[in-house]
Amino acid sequence: MARKIIVSNRLPVKVRRADGTMTFEPSEGGLATGLGSVYKEGENIWLGWPGLCVEESEEQQVITELQKERMQPVFLTESDIKEYYEGFSNETLWPTFHYFSQFAVYEQSYWEAYYRVNQKFCEQIVKFANPDDTIWIHDYQLLLLPSMVRESLPDSTIGFFQHIPFPSYEVFRMLPWRKQILQGLLGADLIGFHTYDDVRHFVSSVIHLVGLAASHGIIETGNRSVMVDAFPMGIDYDKYAQTANSEKVSGMVQEFQEALRHRKIILSIDRLDYSKGIPQRLRAFEMFLKQYPEFHEQVTLIMIVVPSRDQVEKYKELKIEVDELVGRINGLYRTLSWAPVQYYYHSFPFEELSAFYRMAHVALVTPMRDGMNLVCKEYIASRNDGTGVLILSEMAGAAKELSEAILINPNDVHQMVGALQQALIVPEENQRVAVASMQATVQKYNIHHWVNLFMDRLTYAKEKQNALK
Ligand code: UDP
Repeated sequence: MARKIIVSNRLPVKVRRADGTMTFEPSEGGLATGLGSVYKEGENIWLGWPGLCVEESEEQQVITELQKERMQPVFLTESDIKEYYEGFSNETLWPTFHYFSQFAVYEQSYWEAYYRVNQKFCEQIVKFANPDDTIWIHDYQLLLLPSMVRESLPDSTIGFFQHIPFPSYEVFRMLPWRKQILQGLLGADLIGFHTYDDVRHFVSSVIHLVGLAASHGIIETGNRSVMVDAFPMGIDYDKYAQTANSEKVSGMVQEFQEALRHRKIILSIDRLDYSKGIPQRLRAFEMFLKQYPEFHEQVTLIMIVVPSRDQVEKYKELKIEVDELVGRINGLYRTLSWAPVQYYYHSFPFEELSAFYRMAHVALVTPMRDGMNLVCKEYIASRNDGTGVLILSEMAGAAKELSEAILINPNDVHQMVGALQQALIVPEENQRVAVASMQATVQKYNIHHWVNLFMDRLTYAKEKQNALK
């Protein structure tokens, strides 16, 4: 029987090594939950890197433990991680795809490692897959994999989903390996992106760089047609809505609100990344405090920044910039009993995040570019009393769905200041109308809907191809 194989750079597991023993803990991110309905069924599996480099002598133990959870590890060496993951994926592809080409490193050895690791993944897939299996590959670390798998398993059904933006052709063309990347992707039967703009950009790059024809979301490669479409990813809505309603979270909300003296809360949550517009947001908040002194001591910006990629130079520089800005704002405006910015540089447990979402009057989400942005959807799902205001960058994929948010351009500091002032005085009834509408959208187009939609479309793409044979 045909099986389904999920493939991503990271497996949904946290493997830790302490005192010579290894522990295995499933990591329950939204994607893992959504895909649970796929890889945990029948003979299906999830294949990827377990998240740490293991000695050869430890490999068998990792394999045995992970197989219990229907996972199959792909082992990577430290130099694979350095060159393929930190290097090509995060220093070449990530900046380019987020329109930060000036940060992109073009390094041949990174490219070679990227190619080599994609091949490593392919070898593992070929080891486990039957010729007619369905293989769903995820994200920008594995752009070459669809064609590599196609070569070994020509009749397999291959889907690919990219979780980050696909840039305009004019930006994508700057990559020295642009053609190989597109050809790598074209091994899939269905290629999915979050938005139609990403789809357009990808198709335009294929037309210009590979010279293929495309119409109505179908690219003709000569012997096969490849479908390209938009699938905006959702969240596990019920989990956020239910947690926000739990007694434990209610207790936390009360405790936090007392600690913050019941001031109005503006909340931002993101990984430390230059694509997230963190300095821009801080400058806007500083200007807001300058222009509207009546809000002093009335509002607090809770800014949660999750450490990320801290070995990469650009991220180290960004950390210094953010630290300085927070220091400057608090230094200028703080009083004995009020710090304008409450800055946390660490991650939080799920229930505490839920409490923050629930107590925030305003969520301030200002990426310079974001494939989707799930934080804004999680905020909406957690608004169990129906109030709240979302300020959202139009550069986030989510802005296409959440049009009732206050949409801003993160380069326009004056617009952001205006949005903050407006958000803090929106009448409650207007908040309720906007939140109800956004909740309906986020609830309906949840993560389970996304998984089913992609899978159905992939089946359809293959059936259509077979009918034309
Ligand atoms: N998040 C988390 N722990 C934290 C802060 C955030 O797990 O302490 C989660 C957050 O709930 C969200 C994800 O990190 O699901 C961030 O996803 P998003 O799409 O907004 O941005 P990304 O980091 O994927 O670029």
